[in-house]
Amino acid sequence: MEKFAEVALPVPMRQNFSYRLTSQQAIDAKPGCRVRVPFGRQQLIGIIAAITDHCNLPTTQIKSVTSLLDLEPLLAPPLLQLIERGARYYLASLGQMLTQALPTALRKGASSDANTEIYYQLTAAGQALKDTDFKRATSQLKIWQTLSTDKLAKEQCQALGLSAPSLKTMEQKGWLETIEVAPIEDLSWRDNLILLETPLHLNTEQAVAVAAINSRTGFYPSLIEGITGSGKTEVYLSLLEKVLAAGKQALILVPEIGLTPQTIDRFRSRFKVHVAVIHSGLTDNQRLHAWQKSRSGEAAIIIGTRSALFTPMRYPGIIILDEEHDSSFKQQEGVGYHARDLAVMRAQLEQIPVVLGSATPSLETLNNALSGRYGHLSLNERAGKAKKVRQGIIDIRNQPLNCGMSSALINEMRLHLDAGNQVLLFLNRRGFAPALICHECGHLHECDRCDAFFTVHQALNEICCHHCGNQHPIPKQCHQCGSTMLAGQGIGTEQLEQTLAGLFPQYPVVRIDRDSTRLKGSLERHLGAIHRGEFKILVGTQMLAKGHHFPDVTLVGLLDVDGALFSADFRAPERFGQLYTQVAGRAGRAAKPGTVLLQTHQHDNPLLKELLHKGYGDFARQQLQERAMALLPPVWHMVLVRAEAHRAEDADALLNAIANLLPHDREFEIIGPLPAPLDRKAGKFRRQLMFQAKDRQRLQRECERILPLVTHLPETKRCRWSFDRDPQDLL
Ligand code: ADP
Ligand code: ZN
Ligand code: ZN
Repeated sequence: MEKFAEVALPVPMRQNFSYRLTSQQAIDAKPGCRVRVPFGRQQLIGIIAAITDHCNLPTTQIKSVTSLLDLEPLLAPPLLQLIERGARYYLASLGQMLTQALPTALRKGASSDANTEIYYQLTAAGQALKDTDFKRATSQLKIWQTLSTDKLAKEQCQALGLSAPSLKTMEQKGWLETIEVAPIEDLSWRDNLILLETPLHLNTEQAVAVAAINSRTGFYPSLIEGITGSGKTEVYLSLLEKVLAAGKQALILVPEIGLTPQTIDRFRSRFKVHVAVIHSGLTDNQRLHAWQKSRSGEAAIIIGTRSALFTPMRYPGIIILDEEHDSSFKQQEGVGYHARDLAVMRAQLEQIPVVLGSATPSLETLNNALSGRYGHLSLNERAGKAKKVRQGIIDIRNQPLNCGMSSALINEMRLHLDAGNQVLLFLNRRGFAPALICHECGHLHECDRCDAFFTVHQALNEICCHHCGNQHPIPKQCHQCGSTMLAGQGIGTEQLEQTLAGLFPQYPVVRIDRDSTRLKGSLERHLGAIHRGEFKILVGTQMLAKGHHFPDVTLVGLLDVDGALFSADFRAPERFGQLYTQVAGRAGRAAKPGTVLLQTHQHDNPLLKELLHKGYGDFARQQLQERAMALLPPVWHMVLVRAEAHRAEDADALLNAIANLLPHDREFEIIGPLPAPLDRKAGKFRRQLMFQAKDRQRLQRECERILPLVTHLPETKRCRWSFDRDPQDLL
């Protein structure tokens, strides 16, 4: 009987495609294997999702599989299922999701098996030589001596500094030869785990957390809410000890590899196992290599950023997400998946524990922990020797500002710099389109229809309420005091960097943001220079708050707190609370005491007071209640539709058409179309439509129902559009 393969292809169509299998292919092919197939005029590589006996296409239209690339499935059933579920949840095609999940080399058709390695070994003629035969050819002598004990892989020869030209010469003379050796799988760590150092004695809270997780079998999600320095990493290490000793692998996800070298070193120096590190700086081949080592079980520990979530494990043991609140776990381009949510899904499919750790948990995770869906473990004592920071608020109402900096801040900076310390300034660039605030009296302009602040859209000369859609021209005067000094424009890191160079010519400034660290290795170089004290003033965005610690930074200044507190993005206060707490946890970690200063027009804002006086834990629980009252995530569930076009009307027309396809009732709310907070980019108008539902399943059903209809709307021809499930950034 004829067999057909349902193939997932990297194309936007949300469907699989049928191809005919030859009788031999039909014997070998399994779901999860790659195939090369004709698609239009090209050949594409896809993955077999299913094998069937029948095909609905007319026989003349069915094309054949060009070649079968794998005899064994590339992805084991739980991973394949994860990708299928992920594609459904994030409203993407299976092929698009696979594109996110597979290393580039595999998508281009590379072999999934570990490659054979090239070794050098002495020939009989080579073995017959004596050291006196080499005379002054010292590099050849060194090679001969090294190889006389055993053959050596080409890579190791390089690592040992053996001369490549000399190797070649000796090969030409017939003294040595190259041979191909199939890799030997080294799984010895599974039977005999060796610890390279003695673990610390856990304190009570740590021991409780470890015991709670270790006492469970199968799927068990948990949150470790532990203040900075409370010993979360030590808990992970302890959990790993048991997992590895049982012969199982651990997958550890971190926000940014470049910022967490110290953490990776701690895993390396504890266990004598192979640690695969997966991040965006790897070449396609290095990435494939790490993937193979994880799949074969040789890598006992896999550490990586977001996309490492999809790394196969032969012996899955545990998944740990450190700094789980970090927004970089959400993919912004292509399929907008969230690695945290998929990590929980994967752990469930693999039936293993998943640990989410943070000093400042996301409201999503906190909600799951407080409602009992996740285990909840707390670490409240500082394990290390860090001191508590001094925190202060600078009221900048009516103060002259120099590029956003008050003279109080500048004076404090001078004190710290003159004492030989480093200063760190944070700018929140997410506060792109901020609230309209009066610089003289601090009045915030609120929507006259609802309890929300207006957002400034400079390019449109409008203020706009992102809760109800209310819009007005930007007022010329403050509604409270009549002042014309209305601030609504953010400051960029570049501008700030220049101003600082003028103010403090003797103290070198470094800027750390997405732009300044785009080149491979530049982040590491900057960090190295900061540690050597080559820079005294550090200017950066959220990126600088991640996991890293700078022992000589004694002053941290946050410039535009208002932008974060009153932004149109409902997550802005949560993000700010996290940033502030992370920063405060880092200032003065070493022997030197730290100071954190916040500039604001709203010095007695209750949110700010709560955060400063009670800390993130109480602040976050308060925020959660507010989200529930405002019917916002994580209590309700949200999808954001983005549309951009050369004419705003075209984008609005599409969004209105989409809105018309959706229900509108007390449990399903539609907001917009509205300008995106970043309303114009590269000459295109960016508009958005939000919809929210009380029930997650209902939201899923409605999305699945309308997506095929949306694809056929004539309005789609004039815009670019995308659906973002659980949006993290409303920009
Ligand atoms: P976190 O990951 O929560 O920031 P770490 O695990 O990095 O915390 O711990 C902070 C510091 O405290 C580290 O220097 C670590 O070695 C130390 N530490 C952690 N747990 C203990 C312990 N049980 N006993 C002694 N020192 C500890
Ligand atoms: Zn409103
Ligand atoms: Zn005013």
